[in-house]
Amino acid sequence: MNKALLVDRDGVLLESVPDYVKSIEEIRFIPGVEAAVARLWSKGYILCVVTNQAGIGKKLYNIETLQEIHFYIQEKFYEHGRGIVRWYVCPHTVEDKCSCRKPSPALLQQAIQEFTLDPSHTWMVGDKKSDIEAGKKAGCKTCIVKTGEGQKQIFSETNKPDLVVNSFVDFVDTMLV
Ligand SMILES: [Mg+2]
Ligand SMILES: [Zn+2]
Repeated sequence: MNKALLVDRDGVLLESVPDYVKSIEEIRFIPGVEAAVARLWSKGYILCVVTNQAGIGKKLYNIETLQEIHFYIQEKFYEHGRGIVRWYVCPHTVEDKCSCRKPSPALLQQAIQEFTLDPSHTWMVGDKKSDIEAGKKAGCKTCIVKTGEGQKQIFSETNKPDLVVNSFVDFVDTMLV
């Protein structure tokens, strides 16, 4: 059985920027993320990034630019260690009413299927309610980080995440204990 981590991109791995990360120049890693990814890999975890990129649907950047951005991020991770990163992207806007945009669990379920994961042993880490909702629907354990939009999210008793941490780095350090 593979071990993997499902993780949101903006606000968790990267600083969120007001109007989407539209170019490599706008990439800002949240401090310590690259080394934390390397620690995950050294423990045998595959990293599956599940991200809503409505900026593509809004024509603010295209899929080729997004691939360049993800290639750049992956190169930065590789500078700290080898491993597998898979990108699961919803390029649609809310108005498109697609089936893949979080809080839909579709892209998480795709990762679960592709890597033969046991969802009950798999974490979904995000900074928004929609990440937690998607994780719960996919049967995963859920963790909210306080970076990005994390501080602003309000959860009721029934939809709250299993874990709250300060950052992705904290999550990796908590989970790997
Ligand atoms: Mg986010
Ligand atoms: Zn979609």
